Amino acid sequence: MYAINHAATSLLLKKDRQAVPILPLLISTQVVELFWVVFNYLGIEHFSVSNGKLHLDFLPYSHSIFSSVLLSLISYGIIRWIIRNKPLALPFALGVLSHVALDILFHEKDIQLSPFSQTPVWGLGIISFPFLNFVLEFLYGIFCWWYFKGNTRLLAAILIFNVLDLPVMLASGESLDIFIVHPALLPTFILLQILISWYLVAKFSRT
Ligand SMILES: [Zn+2]
Repeated sequence: MYAINHAATSLLLKKDRQAVPILPLLISTQVVELFWVVFNYLGIEHFSVSNGKLHLDFLPYSHSIFSSVLLSLISYGIIRWIIRNKPLALPFALGVLSHVALDILFHEKDIQLSPFSQTPVWGLGIISFPFLNFVLEFLYGIFCWWYFKGNTRLLAAILIFNVLDLPVMLASGESLDIFIVHPALLPTFILLQILISWYLVAKFSRT
């Protein structure tokens, strides 16, 4: 799933929680992806391009079920008992879990049970059907906005960001070679998307 719709998930968590600010919730839904960015920079995880398509290939540390649950429990413990912010602990932990739960629907079969087990791997593979991917993410973004009862600027930000993702979803063939020549480009692109989506959702979700 693309950055803007992971960010939109934080709207579901924010709803009816006046005491919880949106920024930590935005971080919770993308903390898994931030690990992916860092692990790609460090060469611990990697992607590939083959047959004119981008494949995420190897992301067992950031995106496995085990690491996702572990990260969720650790963050719950830290927020609940060390930072002592009880209202934030549960929604933050759910936000962490939401990332891989949503990615399983869209990814190819690349999400492992744990970093140490090559099988089983999960991924419904919606990413292989770019237009379906676009429509489902677009509708999901609108659903999050509607559930949150956001303003029109928030809706516009979600819709425009989704439309801007369409060329990326459709990217194929030699246009992807640049990511092989410059391996840091893809994680940097994803990182920028995360930061911009945080900024837009945080800015426009204030009532
Ligand atoms: Zn992800």
